[in-house]
Amino acid sequence: MKGPGNSPDPGLCGRCNHVRVIVNRNGSRFYLCELAAEDPRFRRYPPIPVLRCSGFQADGDLGEETGSR
Ligand code: SF4
Repeated sequence: MKGPGNSPDPGLCGRCNHVRVIVNRNGSRFYLCELAAEDPRFRRYPPIPVLRCSGFQADGDLGEETGSR
């Protein structure tokens, strides 16, 4: 079994709604930013750890607008 120390800390990408985690055969993890498909400001595979990101959306946050009627 591999421990969590095997993967570097991805920073914000590790808890972002827009990320898709890809694990290859070697067990390496890649963080694919799904925003990159629609917005050229984002990189498909951002260099981690991502410490600041304008597209970050906390996991579990549905991103619905509130109080905007
Ligand atoms: S929006 Fe930013 S934090 Fe979220 S997955 Fe893309 S690069 Fe990572």
